[in-house]
This record gives sequence, structure tokens and C-alpha cells, in this order.
Amino acid sequence: MLQVNRAAARALGAYQRKRSQGTRLLSQVPNRAQILNGIKATEEYDLLVVGGGCTGAGAALDAAARGLSVACFERADYSAGTSSRSTKLLWGGSRYLVTAFVNLLSVNLLKEPRLTIKSFMADLRMVLNCHRERKFMLEKQAHLTNWLPIAVPFTRWIMNPAPFNFYPAMLGPLGLFAAFFKFYDSLSGFSCPPRWVLTDLKMVIFLQHCYTI
Ligand SMILES: Cc1cc2nc3c(=O)[nH]c(=O)nc-3n(C[C@H](O)[C@H](O)[C@H](O)COP(=O)(O)OP(=O)(O)OC[C@H]3O[C@@H](n4cnc5c(N)ncnc54)[C@H](O)[C@@H]3O)c2cc1C
Repeated sequence: MLQVNRAAARALGAYQRKRSQGTRLLSQVPNRAQILNGIKATEEYDLLVVGGGCTGAGAALDAAARGLSVACFERADYSAGTSSRSTKLLWGGSRYLVTAFVNLLSVNLLKEPRLTIKSFMADLRMVLNCHRERKFMLEKQAHLTNWLPIAVPFTRWIMNPAPFNFYPAMLGPLGLFAAFFKFYDSLSGFSCPPRWVLTDLKMVIFLQHCYTI
């Protein structure tokens, strides 16, 4: 219990430090008039980016960080498009990995073994890329990214109906899910915070806000 409390205090401290660092950085951003004057005064750019959603803004930031002169044009407002809808999760692709395993361990493996294994490997590579991207973001955009504790509640030991229509997943709360997530974390070299299987009491201490839900 003590270990869980210390981990929560450490996570909260890191979050508050990053927030104050982010606020300092924002105060240095030039205003609209200054940006337009800067664009008018510049004859040539190395790179023009059209669209200031997370893809365009991210590409522009990355190029600028590599020393290129960049102008990013947005017709509405930054992140006004699809990016404004995002839940902002830097996911590692756990759901894709689940689907890939479910397909691998299905009758498809007997029917079309080569195709099924090929498709599994493609999904695994994609998930590995997600982990690499997440690690990159956490290291290079440390002021914007943050780990958030999430609890997955199970109210039964055996789940019926079977999640993902995959019968072994009925035994998920008995250890299959924990094993899956250990494997999932191993794909990022365990660079993420540890996971625990928590009893009701420990969860209330670790995620106090959940108590009121
Ligand atoms: C409900 C929801 C939840 C999501 N949650 C997540 C999540 O948790 N994690 C995750 O990784 N992804 C999530 N996504 C997906 C993610 O939001 C999108 O993949 C991402 O926002 C796409 O960004 P974008 O920059 O490519 O597009 P957009 O955000 O749409 O940006 C395109 C921009 O280009 C501008 N533009 C277009 N044409 C022009 C032009 N001619 N001149 C100037 N500007 C122009 C638009 O105004 C717009 O701002 C979610 C998506 C939705 C809908």
C-alpha cells in the first residue's frame, strides 16, 4: 500500500513540474501580428506546411527542431479539425494487438496459415511502431506528455459473453489479461510505469477519484 502511495505522489509531482514548464514555454509564443510580420519579412522557407492539425503542426515542429525554416498555414485555427476531437491518448495499439492475437489463434490459422501469420506480423510491427512513437513523444515532447493511471475494473472472474468473441478471453480476469499486458509492456522494453493487479481497497487508495464514480 505504501509503495502504491509513493508511486502516486511521484507521478503527481512529475505532472505538476511538467505543467509549470509548459506554462513558461507558452508565454514565449509570439502573437498573431508578430507571426504575420515575420512571414511577410521572410522571402523563402525550406518548408511550407498546409494544415495545422496534429499532423501538420507536428511535422512543422519537427522540421523546425531540425533547423529548417518552416511556415505552417492553417485556414481555421490550430487543431480546429479532427485533432480537436481526439482524446489525446498516445496509445500503443493494445486493441490492435488483441485483434491480431484473436485472428492468429482462430480457425484462419488452419485455413490460411501463411496469410494469417503475415497479417499478425504486420499488426505486430505496427504496434511496435506505436510504442517507438510514444517513447519518442515522451522523450522529445516531455512538456506535453504525461502518464495517466488507468484502472480496468473487473466485477466477475469469468466474463460471459466472451470479449472479442474469443472464448479463452472469458478467463481474462483470472490472469490472461495481466499476462497479455505484461507482453504488451515488454514491446516497449518496460519503459512504461508498472501495472498492478489491485484489490478493491488498493484501487481506492491509488485512484481516489474512482471511489466517487
Ligand atoms: C473522437 C476521436 C477521438 C480520437 N482519439 C484519438 C486518440 O486518443 N489518440 C490518437 O492518436 N488519435 C485519436 N484520434 C485520431 C486523431 O484525432 C486524428 O488522426 C488526427 O487528429 C488527424 O490529424 P490531422 O492533422 O491529420 O487532421 P486535422 O486535425 O483534421 O487537421 C487538418 C487541418 O488542416 C486544415 N486545412 C485543411 N485544408 C486546408 C487548406 N487548404 N489550407 C489551410 N488549412 C487547411 C484544417 O482546417 C485542419 O485544421 C481520434 C479521432 C476522433 C475523431
